[in-house]
Amino acid sequence: AVEIRDLHKSFGELEVLKGIDFSVEPGQVVCVIGPSGSGKSTLLRCVNLLEQPTSGRVVLEGVELTDPDVDLDAARRRVGMVFQQFNLFPHMTVLENVMIAQRRVLKRGKAEAERVARENLEKVGIAEKCDAYPAQLSGGQQQRVAIARALAMNPALMLFDEPTSALDPELVGDVLAVMRKLAEEGMTMLVVTHEMAFARDVADRVVFMDGGVIVEDGQAAQVIGDPQQERTKAFLRRVL
Ligand code: ATP
Ligand code: MG
Repeated sequence: AVEIRDLHKSFGELEVLKGIDFSVEPGQVVCVIGPSGSGKSTLLRCVNLLEQPTSGRVVLEGVELTDPDVDLDAARRRVGMVFQQFNLFPHMTVLENVMIAQRRVLKRGKAEAERVARENLEKVGIAEKCDAYPAQLSGGQQQRVAIARALAMNPALMLFDEPTSALDPELVGDVLAVMRKLAEEGMTMLVVTHEMAFARDVADRVVFMDGGVIVEDGQAAQVIGDPQQERTKAFLRRVL
């Protein structure tokens, strides 16, 4: 679904990504782990060109996003993104939040957008909150609305950047359960997470990043349970 080749990203003098290579096949779940500042969010943001890479290639479903002539808006429509902060519109109801991009970006009619919104709110277990405003929901519920909003756009790839890091511990499980269900349904997912149990149990592959490079990339159970690199071992000792 997405292929990243020799990706570099610098902010001024600071080289944050130093030649990243990996790909996510359709239906795969890949988790990215690594210490703070290692470049995980920057990598995710480069995947849909929210950040312009300094060099290298990003190919999404056969479309080279790093080609200057590409229709970026069209390509980005194929990618759903879920952030640590849920970024819902506070003045819109849950239903409206899940309808708005469908209406504006995909030009869906009202009835269709509403049907798709309700379907996806059902999927994330929050259909009964359609008419609530974000402030009336828990963080876990807001995050599930954010997931429904992304799903409503029929993405080919879902990006998650620490989707549970801002949540109270007791709310983390509900969000992870939704993500696990998506994975089981065959959604292609690239997930930055600190939830090692989720990475081990749900991901097909785990990528460990440190200092802007991929230090280790392998089967989830292997990387988490029996890492080969010293830096991976040291990181896992600290977080497990
Ligand atoms: P965390 O686990 O804390 O979220 P991360 O692995 O996601 O960390 P990034 O957010 O990708 O790390 O940041 C990597 C480095 O790039 C950091 O040193 C950060 O300060 C720097 N950086 C990120 N975005 C910018 C920016 N827009 N301008 C300048 N420096 C940036
Ligand atoms: Mg980050």
